[in-house]
This record gives sequence, structure tokens and C-alpha cells, in this order.
Amino acid sequence: MNSDAFRTLLESRREALLGERRLAESSAATVQLDQGAQGRLSRMDAMQQQAMAASQVRRPRTELRKVEAALDRPGTFGACCRCDEPMTPERLQADAATPFCQDCAHGASRE
Ligand SMILES: [Zn+2]
Repeated sequence: MNSDAFRTLLESRREALLGERRLAESSAATVQLDQGAQGRLSRMDAMQQQAMAASQVRRPRTELRKVEAALDRPGTFGACCRCDEPMTPERLQADAATPFCQDCAHGASRE
């Protein structure tokens, strides 16, 4: 995979994550508004929904940071941050934001 294709992949992933986050944020806001209308009986439900929505806001944020970090190192697009070897297209397709090749990722998790 060339670095242009890789950047495009990362950028579309970032767009998807930003959209997901916007959606999660607006559903968190909706739950808050509903809470007033629903009254006491469904307060537990609303709180549960709100907790779920909040966790949906958090989840893409972590991956978004990873994707943005990957976009910030154009010099190493598609190359491992540790051994500088080019990563396999399979690895990049599975996780475009990964900073390490499969070998290094495995080595790092063993350490
Ligand atoms: Zn490596």
C-alpha cells in the first residue's frame, strides 16, 4: 500500500470516528432532555441510557487519538515505528492506525 492510499484510509477512518462521536454526543444530550419529560418512573432507565451514551462517546475517542497520531507521522506512513520495516497491507487494513508491525506488536506485548 502506498502512503497516499494509507493516508486516505486513515482520513476516512477519522471521518467515520468523528461522525460516530457526534452521534454519540447528540444521543447523550437527547437522554438528558428526555429525562425531564419522562419523570421519576423512568429515571433509572434514563440514567442507564445516559451512561451507555457516555461510554459510546469515550470509545471512539481512544481510536481517534490513535488515528490522529498516525496521521501526524507522515514520514513513517505504513512503516513500523519500531523497526522501520514496511507493514503488510493485511495489517494496515486490519488496523490502519497501528504504529507497529505484527512482529513488533507481538514483541511489545510480550515485554
Ligand atoms: Zn516492526
